[in-house]
Amino acid sequence: MDLVLEVCDTFVFDKIYSALFPVPDAVTTILQAAADPSVALKNISVPYIPATPYEYTLIPAGPAAYMTTIARTNIWRQTTSLYIITAIFGVLLYLVFATLSYVFIFDKRSMQHPKFLKNQISMEMIQALTAIPFMVLYTVPWFLAEVRGYGMLYWDVEDYGYFYLALQFPLFIGFTDCGIYAIHRGLHHPLLYKRLHKPHHKWIVPTPFASHAFHPVDGYLQSLPYHFFPFVFPLHKISYLFLFTFINVWTIMIHDGEYVTQNPAINGSACHTVHHLYFNYNYGQFTTLWDRIGGSYRKPDVSLFDQKVKMNQATWKQQSKEMEKIVKEVEIVDERTYDGPDSKKTQ
Ligand SMILES: [Zn+2]
Ligand SMILES: [Zn+2]
Repeated sequence: MDLVLEVCDTFVFDKIYSALFPVPDAVTTILQAAADPSVALKNISVPYIPATPYEYTLIPAGPAAYMTTIARTNIWRQTTSLYIITAIFGVLLYLVFATLSYVFIFDKRSMQHPKFLKNQISMEMIQALTAIPFMVLYTVPWFLAEVRGYGMLYWDVEDYGYFYLALQFPLFIGFTDCGIYAIHRGLHHPLLYKRLHKPHHKWIVPTPFASHAFHPVDGYLQSLPYHFFPFVFPLHKISYLFLFTFINVWTIMIHDGEYVTQNPAINGSACHTVHHLYFNYNYGQFTTLWDRIGGSYRKPDVSLFDQKVKMNQATWKQQSKEMEKIVKEVEIVDERTYDGPDSKKTQ
């Protein structure tokens, strides 16, 4: 995150903080009086630790970086800036990728499924957009610790070599897959399910907009393994940014209802659709490994890879019948309001 923070500081925040908290007039006058401000700036101590050794050549700090009393290293400035950056990027990532997925991938015929809810998409969006600001709030301390140098994020590839540079990707997926399985399964314990995880299971037939539609504490708890990783294993700063974008896109992909792969090792959309329909199976995020070990794996019905069978009324009826049985065990009373052709009633 220090890379992102540095770029945002240079282009946005330095200007805002220097306008809100300017240095005393005398310093400003000296800087402005200098024929070449960069010469004058060299004589002033650097108010931050650069994210990379190339900071001065790639994104040199402008005069505004030195014209505020709130230096870039100020912990409150970092907290505020990280919150703003993460909230904006979080919302944009969700809206842009979920919309793209909805327009180009999601099969709108599944909105005719008898277990599709009334006003489901707007409810998914409201749930996600009200949860994201809180999830970001809980997440900022992790980013702050990383920016202040407590994690194991690194820049110089030579530090751990090219073999580790490649290895960190499967290591990240393996580590977080195990952690999310344990946390997600824990969230299905009746005590936690009712209080935290139930809002994400409102969606029996999810759309891509359900991807981030959680209770904020639920969403945060399931993201914990991602934040733990760079404190346990070295992670390159660019890989970190790539992986954090990837996990958000993956979360959207497993909610798009498009069955891409029958690969028995991958917990894709087919497996996660089973989780939303039948609750007690496929808690994994990336692979089916921990569900197989934990005895919760349920293979998606092979016939559902055929579009005709998948979008068939008889299939939906049969799915609804089984779902109704399980929802009674898990939630006792089903409080959802469905919008399917023969389910326009509160159940
Ligand atoms: Zn769940
Ligand atoms: Zn889900």
